[in-house]
Amino acid sequence: MKTDVKKIFGSNVFNDAVMKERLPKAAYKKMKATIDAGAELDPEVADIVAHEMKEWAIEKGATHFTHWFQPLTGITAEKHDAFIDPQGDGTTLLRFSGKELIKGEPDASSFPSGGLRATFEARGYTAWDCTSPAFIKETPHSTILCIPTAFCSYKGEALDKKTPLLRSMQALEIQVLRILRLFGNKTAKHVTTSVGPEQEYFLVDKEKFLKRKDLIFTGRTLFGAMPPKGQEMDDHYFGVIPERVLEFMEKFNEELWKLGISAKTQHNEVAPAQHEIAPIYDQNNIATDHNQLVMETAQRVADELGLKCLLHEKPFAGINGSGKHNNWSICTDEGENLLDPGETPHENMQFLLFLAAILRAVDEHADLLRLSASTPGNDHRLGANEAPPAIISIFLGEQLEDVVEQFVDNGEATSSLEGEEYISGVHSLPHFQKDATDRNRTSPFAFTGNKFEFRMVGSTQSIADPNTVLNTIVAEVLSDMADRLEASDDLPMAIHDMIKDTIAAHNRIIFNGNGYSDEWVAEAERRGLPNIKCMVDAVPALVKEDAVEIFEKHGVYTKAEMESRAEVMYETYAKTINIEALTMIDMAKKQIVPATIKYQTSLAESVNAIKAASSAVDTSVQEALMADISANLKAMYAALAHLEEVTNKAEEMEEGAEQGHYYHDVVFAAMDELRKPADKLEMLVAKSAWPFPSYGDLIFEV
Ligand code: ADP
Ligand code: MG
Repeated sequence: MKTDVKKIFGSNVFNDAVMKERLPKAAYKKMKATIDAGAELDPEVADIVAHEMKEWAIEKGATHFTHWFQPLTGITAEKHDAFIDPQGDGTTLLRFSGKELIKGEPDASSFPSGGLRATFEARGYTAWDCTSPAFIKETPHSTILCIPTAFCSYKGEALDKKTPLLRSMQALEIQVLRILRLFGNKTAKHVTTSVGPEQEYFLVDKEKFLKRKDLIFTGRTLFGAMPPKGQEMDDHYFGVIPERVLEFMEKFNEELWKLGISAKTQHNEVAPAQHEIAPIYDQNNIATDHNQLVMETAQRVADELGLKCLLHEKPFAGINGSGKHNNWSICTDEGENLLDPGETPHENMQFLLFLAAILRAVDEHADLLRLSASTPGNDHRLGANEAPPAIISIFLGEQLEDVVEQFVDNGEATSSLEGEEYISGVHSLPHFQKDATDRNRTSPFAFTGNKFEFRMVGSTQSIADPNTVLNTIVAEVLSDMADRLEASDDLPMAIHDMIKDTIAAHNRIIFNGNGYSDEWVAEAERRGLPNIKCMVDAVPALVKEDAVEIFEKHGVYTKAEMESRAEVMYETYAKTINIEALTMIDMAKKQIVPATIKYQTSLAESVNAIKAASSAVDTSVQEALMADISANLKAMYAALAHLEEVTNKAEEMEEGAEQGHYYHDVVFAAMDELRKPADKLEMLVAKSAWPFPSYGDLIFEV
């Protein structure tokens, strides 16, 4: 084995083992109490921890520290501070205090805040999230101690994605503990959500990437004719991984392991040049931090190896896009997975109550979940006849669906289906019990054995938003359930009735069939399930009255925070489409039109030369080609003028919903119109004359 995995795993993390080894016993105990139980941190302990953290980081070669945070851009932010403390005699000590560890004050007024703070009120604080371990980010040119933090304004409003996530985890914990107590559990002290995000990405050759302005500026291709072959042969999925990609994966895994990220699974995905990585699940906020590092590391390692990692939800039209499957469950500090149904789910009332609560939460707040997975890039997947559909539904699988049906039909469930024996017809193959449930790949929200898998999340996205929503809507339902159960004098009966009634009221959200089919769209409409097709249509869910009420009640968002986030979403959408439109205009004008004219001229010269050489030779092919090119060039030029006109108009509009819709309905549509003739031209013009690499070059020649 080339890599000593045991040795490098977590070697760049200031984790529990390091603290145990380096901190004085008393300080370690207090620190643990803060991490595990949320006890307030003694400033003296903070000083000790800071000192040891610094010593450890310096041993690893670090010169700077940073409060690492997650602003509303969806990516991470850092500002480096050196450990130096000049002594006035020309020398320096290296220092790092508890105060510096706990609190930072970046003048971070240029991050999107959706009007939450004006630039003259620039004060913003970063506060140490000690539940997510500090780590060292080692790149070829820097070694930085990174301290995961939350980012808030002077007035305490969340300016990041981490703060609401932590608040939502707290909110869910409170309500889950109430339910557990009702089931007689007196010992569980803590409840967290566990999350395992599967990350899809594309790898392309860097040199080719750099020849495409669309990839450089927007992360996706804005032009490109389909190659003769796409993904129809299914020969890439789980296929043998090419050497160059394996080289990437090897380095990628190593870097992740050093960061204590349990990179576990890797494989080729459905589309050519598409791959996936999945870590082992972690506590929600840690998983969120880790996923950011996964995305960042993938891009860095790819770049170092002459590749580019595309995280965009839809880098290429006509083949699959990328998502992020957000596996989510609820666990106690005693190690109980509350979404584990056990062998006989029909008897497991506690599980069934949590299941019913999730059904209700997802049904009542489908629009919020849909919103939480909305990015400009994800619009190309959700609602565009691709995986998964924009309609939220839940897949339970045969076993639970059967239990649910029993409740609906008979008011109670008396049996659970069992997994049958696996029979292959070959004597030498092993016999085993199958799972009680098959899988469904088209469901946006699927039960997969002991967790739910929310599959709508976009590949570029921070998983903070979807989990914040998921935690909060489930907390809300559980709080209502706990209110009613706590007031009942026949608890077992009340629990039974609550499961039965909740299932009956919300089973319309369950769908086990093909989520990609047209029949499902019609059926969902009949059931009254929302089908929100694009990001701009999704945003209003965030500011409607009942959403505000719930988020305020559970202390996750204030109304002002929600309104500001809605504003940021409209802004993000408008800016993204604007950049895409400008990039298309640029490529069309400076590359496609000139290249086409040049090729056209060479055809004309060839016709003239042939005619001059001999009047007997037929030049009709060249002439037909010229006519075809001319017609498309003309159409393209008209579409280009139209796109320029509507983009200018959009830029002049005031930011907000109206502008967002204009970008979606008018500008985005005009981009499509420009692409059509341009892609036809690509098929008419000689490959050697086309100004940038084709789809075939990009996805089949990595
Ligand atoms: P599947 O085959 O159902 O997709 P995998 O075993 O491949 O499941 O796991 C997918 C992801 O789900 C992994 O990141 C895994 O760690 C995560 N996962 C497994 N169990 C849980 C759980 N209880 N809570 C959250 N995530 C989980
Ligand atoms: Mg999965």
